[in-house]
Amino acid sequence: MKTDIEIAQETVLRPISDIAAALGLSEEDYEPFGWDKAKLSDELLQKLHDKPDGKIILVTSINPTPAGEGKSTVTVGLGQAMNQIGKKAITALREPSLGPVMGMKGGAAGGGYAQVLPMEDINTHFTGDIHAITSANNVLAALIDNHIHQGNALNLDPRRIEWKRVMDVNDRALRQIVIGLGGPKKGIPREDSFQITVASEIMAVLCLATSLQDLKQRLAKIVIGYTYDEQVVTVGDLKVEGALAMLLKDAIKPNLVQTIENTPAIIHGGPFANIAHGCNSIMATKTAAKLADYVITEAGFGADLGAEKFLDIKARIGEFEPDAVVIVATVRALKMHGGAALETLQTENIAALEKGMENLKKHMETIEQFGLPYVIAINKFPCDTKKETDFIASWCEANGAKTALCEVFAKGGAGGIDLAEKVIKQANSPTKQFQPVYDMNDDLETKMCKIAKQVYGADGIELSPKAKQQLAFYEKQGWGNLGICMAKTQYSLSDNPKLLGRPKGFTISIRELRPSIGAGFIVALTGDVMTMPGLPKKPAAMRMDVKDDGRIVGLF
Ligand code: ADP
Repeated sequence: MKTDIEIAQETVLRPISDIAAALGLSEEDYEPFGWDKAKLSDELLQKLHDKPDGKIILVTSINPTPAGEGKSTVTVGLGQAMNQIGKKAITALREPSLGPVMGMKGGAAGGGYAQVLPMEDINTHFTGDIHAITSANNVLAALIDNHIHQGNALNLDPRRIEWKRVMDVNDRALRQIVIGLGGPKKGIPREDSFQITVASEIMAVLCLATSLQDLKQRLAKIVIGYTYDEQVVTVGDLKVEGALAMLLKDAIKPNLVQTIENTPAIIHGGPFANIAHGCNSIMATKTAAKLADYVITEAGFGADLGAEKFLDIKARIGEFEPDAVVIVATVRALKMHGGAALETLQTENIAALEKGMENLKKHMETIEQFGLPYVIAINKFPCDTKKETDFIASWCEANGAKTALCEVFAKGGAGGIDLAEKVIKQANSPTKQFQPVYDMNDDLETKMCKIAKQVYGADGIELSPKAKQQLAFYEKQGWGNLGICMAKTQYSLSDNPKLLGRPKGFTISIRELRPSIGAGFIVALTGDVMTMPGLPKKPAAMRMDVKDDGRIVGLF
């Protein structure tokens, strides 16, 4: 079997100007970034304001296994399939973070015959957006420490700095550090920590901003820390939102590329869904909706994380409603949810599969609570038996859900025609009654409780003494009407990654809260989830190489 990168390297790409022209774009609407990538103008959305919106399809999944369940692959393949049946469709994805690319995944631009290209660029430096976000984040960190060193006119308490440094690398050694050691010329010593770039509030702000002006206003609201008498200090107080916006002026422009079948794809923004809000940018999704009849976009990890945040945070800020949802399920993940061990997943096991269906059932109920029509995509892996995929299909039918066997990994768009037709039917059905899980006027604790109970199936939440104190302080600051971004493990519906399937009788422990006032939400850290991941024992990086002719190998 060919690897993803071998399939990608065999593809004949079209110049990006052809892809743009097919979307009806003129030369002033985009800036070519080399031959096969382009940045769309940030004014395009404004220009297309009066055009009607295409349908928005959200792709989500059951709780994944460590390798991912093929959500990006299905998202890309569904876009290809829709184009094959004559629909104008754009796939809108997030930009991969180097953390998982070098660590676990080895590539995050789809797979098999459903990929976005050039995958080598997309998986590494791409158009530099993530580097720009890292720079803006760390310029702010340096400005804060310099401010304290230069006399601290804002009276910032070095023990109460919220702002953290970032790198787009999984580097556990930087989770907890001390900076400013070495005497008066080396700054003021304080405890600090690094996060991965995709957890930075600047990433969230870029993804939720609706224009360059909105970006600057959101940057100004970012809380950097507190004074000795516990007053909030923001980027606006430091007067550096202009400099940060300047560093992001190109990163805010959505990136246009193509799929393996030369259909259009927009890739922009890349927050993780477990420790951040998990969706591509509002500007990318909305621009795609103006340019196509169907936008197929994904939100990270399972419906408990990415989809909840897409529907409660992104859709609300972006003032749009998705028209249908695709829930990706795989035989192997369902078997794991039913108790099968990782090493046995190649073997047919209907008993484990049947038990594991309870995980899918919870996600179906969640999407039903949001009032959205959906289709279950069974993403077929080579080791799945017909008996197993048939079992899922008939179980779903018996439970009133539509399913389609999705073979886009092996067959490209042709393997997703049935899915495309069913999704189109659902997206045009009048059954939609979109309803977010919480009301913005609910207090913060009520919002967290509603997510825990209605989306995770928990009995409730438990706040640590620190979280309780923060909650009272945040409500006093007038932040009670903001959204909630839960930081929770992706592997389980609960906050314990080991509880697979559909755990019952658990509570969600809220350890700590963090203000993301620029983004417009409060982050709630649950269980022992961390905002700087670590690398596994055998990182994917060990397989990667670049040949003497510049050809990349081993990027999956
Ligand atoms: P997610 O978006 O859920 O994290 P991806 O689409 O990135 O998942 O897929 C994860 C990995 O699994 C990729 O390496 C991809 O090539 C592979 N993969 C996805 N679908 C299939 C499939 N049907 N058969 C074989 N491998 C697949």
